[in-house]
Amino acid sequence: MEIKTAVEIFKKHQIKTRAYEHAMGMLYYDARTAAPRDSSEPLGQTLGVLSEESYKLSVNDDFKALVAFLIKNKDSLDFQTRREAEEISDNIEKTGKIPIEEYSEYQMLINESEHVWHQAKLANDYASFEPLLAKVVEFQRRFAHYWAPDKDPYDTLLDKYEKGLTCEILDKYFSDIRTKLVPLIKKIAAKNSSYDFPFTRASYPIEKQREFSSYLMDVMSIDKNRCVIGETEHPFTIEFSKKDVRITTNYKEKNFLSNLYSVIHEGGHALYELNTGDSLMGSALAHGISMGVHESQSRFFENIIGRSKYFTNKIFPKLVEFFPENFKGVSPDDLYRAVNKSEPSLIRTEADELTYSMHILVRYELEKRLISGELSTKELPEAWNELYEKYLGITVPDDTHGVLQDTHWSGGSFGYFPSYSIGSAYAAQILASMEKDIDVWGCVSDPSGDLAPIVQWLTERIYKFGMMITPSEAIFNCCSAAFDPSYYTDYLIKKFTKIYDL
Ligand code: ZN
Repeated sequence: MEIKTAVEIFKKHQIKTRAYEHAMGMLYYDARTAAPRDSSEPLGQTLGVLSEESYKLSVNDDFKALVAFLIKNKDSLDFQTRREAEEISDNIEKTGKIPIEEYSEYQMLINESEHVWHQAKLANDYASFEPLLAKVVEFQRRFAHYWAPDKDPYDTLLDKYEKGLTCEILDKYFSDIRTKLVPLIKKIAAKNSSYDFPFTRASYPIEKQREFSSYLMDVMSIDKNRCVIGETEHPFTIEFSKKDVRITTNYKEKNFLSNLYSVIHEGGHALYELNTGDSLMGSALAHGISMGVHESQSRFFENIIGRSKYFTNKIFPKLVEFFPENFKGVSPDDLYRAVNKSEPSLIRTEADELTYSMHILVRYELEKRLISGELSTKELPEAWNELYEKYLGITVPDDTHGVLQDTHWSGGSFGYFPSYSIGSAYAAQILASMEKDIDVWGCVSDPSGDLAPIVQWLTERIYKFGMMITPSEAIFNCCSAAFDPSYYTDYLIKKFTKIYDL
């Protein structure tokens, strides 16, 4: 076959795969936002049919031969096509290494395990979930071995979510966080009783909050012709192409900050997807590169920009305009301190910017020990509670608010948690570099301006490349240096020492 013909077939194939993903993604989004409760059964059937067709499309001998042919001739391909072939070839190889019977057995286990976890969480009944979790851990260990028999299995799992991330990097990273942040968190906890902000608990009409979300999208320079907001229990972002990105939020009448920061966080994910290069439309590479780099963007906008004094000062007059009664007697400084209140807490998803990485540290240490076999799933709750006491100084009252709180392990996502924390650390390093190039805070403060100059800077270095670059190349493009976690701890120490006047 001629290379030109092979490339044409290969490109058409990607468009077809994207079409299946588009349809399945849309059904998933609809199920979570608009579909009636009883739709789940027929929906499950439709999704089953579509995913089988999509699977057959990629896992068949003709396609494998085509990809192998392109890889063999990769030096004659343009850069994008070559990266597409490499990415797809990697996936084919990975899937092929797991015996099909084991893979379906695992799928069935995960279905059951997620269901049982949900019940166990509601009933505070870890014992009912434990035998399934033990099996999930065993499968994860085995899969890691199939993928890379000579590598440490936990390194293999980390690499799945963040290419190049290893225990060696993370051990150093978390030890820095532990030694520098644990003492600061404890000092702040001792001071916290005098900090209370009742205006954050007042009643904020949902309809007004919806209008406020729309204002936030404008501030972030999110193109509303290509991105809309839906409502779900847990906020998320899903993209079908750079011309159709959906974010979701959850409105709580008595907690307006929850929506405010959900929109900014998901908005950060959306900006990444909205600004991938035009040449990637329909390509397998038209996504953000990794979990960690994606989180670096959502957390950059949510915390570094969104929880800065410049940003809270900027939105303060709008909040007064939208909610005049609630903001009577509230100063811009009150708002800044309220959104930065730091306090050790039990639940990861509700943690503040400073304590967040402690929750990840706990999970990292436990995952590592579970996968290595040093810790058994029977011993897990006790180990969990011990670490919460050690790093956050709090007592876990029950497993519902402890080891059962997150869905990740029940779904087999081992190695996923660290990317949340690494994302925050990338973001701090990116800021330091961006500040040298452009007037970041002047842009945030500009009363009539939006964040477009910041988005432009990030687009040139990260967004437009989609999956054509690796996570470390994304960091290098921004910082002209390798990942350095000390920016993150320096940033947090400076910020919170000032806020709490320590
Ligand atoms: Zn996120």
